[in-house]
Amino acid sequence: WIPVITVDGPTASGKGTLASALATRLGYQFLDSGSLYRITGLLALEQGTDLDDAHALEQLARQLGEGIALRFDRDHIWVDGRDVSEAVRREEIGQAASRLSAYPGVRQALLELQKAFRGLPGLVADGRDMGTVVFPDAALKVFLTASVAQRAERRHKQLISKGFSVTLDEICADLEARDLRDTSRAVAPLAPAADARKLDNSALSIDESVDAVLGWWVQ
Ligand code: C5P
Repeated sequence: WIPVITVDGPTASGKGTLASALATRLGYQFLDSGSLYRITGLLALEQGTDLDDAHALEQLARQLGEGIALRFDRDHIWVDGRDVSEAVRREEIGQAASRLSAYPGVRQALLELQKAFRGLPGLVADGRDMGTVVFPDAALKVFLTASVAQRAERRHKQLISKGFSVTLDEICADLEARDLRDTSRAVAPLAPAADARKLDNSALSIDESVDAVLGWWVQ
């Protein structure tokens, strides 16, 4: 039995930062499940696959880890030997990932690949449906929340520091659109698992959030 901690929550809630810090502290494996949807989005855009073509997108997602080689470390992602770490973070790729993740066939195609990240001595997995669909038997499920205003402010700082010019209003609108898509899709809508612990990190530093979760973990 290999323990899993899941961290789910909306876009820009700080899931990735928290999950990665937890994995480092515990010496666990790490799954950023959003990156799989992003890789699918990147390849779809590069190959000219229509984002309305659910079947073609499902076929593409099925090739990840099969015909298409993936390699991950904590900060990098390689697809067929190419470093796509920067490319998958692009805004248009996030948008594409958000759209294609609504197709049940795409989600099903990525399921086994996600489960295969479970490895010794344990796994921290972050996403939208880690606790509800992918690892329903997880030992600890965390559902992160933070207000749209807080999340928008964090993302704004992040993007500005990278040299992007974008307004707070644009970010708020994008976050709201993504939240709506994530929570209203038919399959695996974003919602806390019944047995999830909720953590509102609006007023917490990263270290405080990590400590709160570790406190639950050792109990
Ligand atoms: O978390 P991140 O923003 O990288 O995820 C990209 C997109 O993939 C999200 O907008 C979300 O719609 C989708 N996603 C998902 N299920 C997951 C992880 C991400 O639907 N487990």
